[in-house]
Amino acid sequence: MTDTLTAFAAGKLAALEAQSLKRTLVPTHRTDGLWVERGGRGLLSFSCNDYLNLSHHPAVKAAAMAAVEAHGAGAGASRLVTGDHPIFGELEARLAALKGTEAACVFGSGYLANAGIIPTFVGEGDVVFVDELAHACIWSGAQLSRARIVSFRHNDMQDLADKLGRLRGEGRALIATDGVFSMDGDVAPLDEISRLAQGHDAWLLVDDAHGLGVLGEGRGTAALFPEAKVDLAMGTFSKALGGYGAYVCASAPVIDFIKTRTRTVVYTTGLPPANAAAALAALDVIAADPQLAAAPLAKARRFTRALNLPEATSAVVPVVMGEAERTLAAAAALEAEGFLVVAIRPPTVPAGTARLRLAFTAGHPDAEIDRLAEAVRPLMAP
Ligand SMILES: *Cc1c(COP(=O)(O)O)cnc(C)c1O
Repeated sequence: MTDTLTAFAAGKLAALEAQSLKRTLVPTHRTDGLWVERGGRGLLSFSCNDYLNLSHHPAVKAAAMAAVEAHGAGAGASRLVTGDHPIFGELEARLAALKGTEAACVFGSGYLANAGIIPTFVGEGDVVFVDELAHACIWSGAQLSRARIVSFRHNDMQDLADKLGRLRGEGRALIATDGVFSMDGDVAPLDEISRLAQGHDAWLLVDDAHGLGVLGEGRGTAALFPEAKVDLAMGTFSKALGGYGAYVCASAPVIDFIKTRTRTVVYTTGLPPANAAAALAALDVIAADPQLAAAPLAKARRFTRALNLPEATSAVVPVVMGEAERTLAAAAALEAEGFLVVAIRPPTVPAGTARLRLAFTAGHPDAEIDRLAEAVRPLMAP
């Protein structure tokens, strides 16, 4: 006989607890896109992906509120039934223009986007080549596709070339990578990946959740590699845009096919119109202030310079501690100093690489970044 479901879960939790790998939800009140309140205490957050602090920007909030008033709280149905509010088309045209593609499709979330897009284009008999550190939802999409999954070493073009040469096969092939890696903050060499994709007759999907609004004057990671050809340019509204939802930009037939066949478009309710309104307003804020998008990287570099860490290449800076327990202790020490820096543990990152993952935002005061660096310094000693 198997355990009861409750006994099974309790046993699993006890084992995780023993390894410092049990997770707990901590109610957190985000008060202004920069500061948070936990247990009645105010902390300066270095753990939100709200890189431009737009989640609390007056124009973004006003757009969302006005859209709720005008269009209601929800889309009411799948987009293919009655849920295709015209604001989605407006947002899609805006995104396509930003990314230089013919068309775009909006999704409920980034996870839904990758889980749906990959199985739309590859299946049994095909191969998906995935960077080993790519986001969990790329792996989910790859697994759902039933294509063969080939993992290549992180940002290792030699390994990718070798595997494309040996394992590409006769079917379709897709290479999937993050633009900016969410837990490491480094950037995929999209020019080289694109060259390999074209040389091996493979398509390229780039998940730019952490690049949009931050790199390439806000246009995203691919803007740093003008010669790169990205077939599926995916990203989210949930990081620098401060809201929720996601998109993919591509050619018109690719987008039409997604809107016809992708399960996470067809069988799910449309994004609430207010989320689309907020995303449009956030894109307006970014377009109106050419300095804004550059700020998170400048802040991150202030921190990496202070500690002689490898220079930041995005708003995300990892300080790898190794074991989970040590990382939790470091996070607690920083919390005592008034900083919220959440410990990131396996399986979000590979075993033995638990880390402090710092996310820098446009609004972080320089003096606080300097104070944070001084607080992190003693925690880094081996
Ligand atoms: C956050 C994130 C996602 C998921 O996006 P959601 O809109 O939060 O579901 C996908 N890919 C990457 C790289 C991310 O960091």
